[in-house]
Amino acid sequence: MHELSLAESAIELIESVARKECFTRVRVVHLEVGALSCVEPDALAFAFQSASLGTCAEGARLNVLHVPGEGMCPSCGTTSVMDKLYALCPVCEGGALRVQRGTEMRVKDLDVE
Ligand SMILES: [Zn+2]
Repeated sequence: MHELSLAESAIELIESVARKECFTRVRVVHLEVGALSCVEPDALAFAFQSASLGTCAEGARLNVLHVPGEGMCPSCGTTSVMDKLYALCPVCEGGALRVQRGTEMRVKDLDVE
């Protein structure tokens, strides 16, 4: 499952930050999720919960921040908002937009104690 591997890498990152910054418990994880990342929020929450068992992020709340997708048209060079992958350029309709932003998921911030 896509979400499970994302959740596992997020947990790994959180644990390495925890070792470095010496906190023992994460209360809230602020996650940026791109509109084009194909992440299902419910599946992500479930995956995060199981991946976090036994770690400092066990029981942490997820705060999902949505990042809009953005792509550039290879024909006319206009940058447009994308709500799905393989969207056509809305300006010239001449080509599929090349994705520039919005496919990733990353840990933006942590509330710790
Ligand atoms: Zn165009």
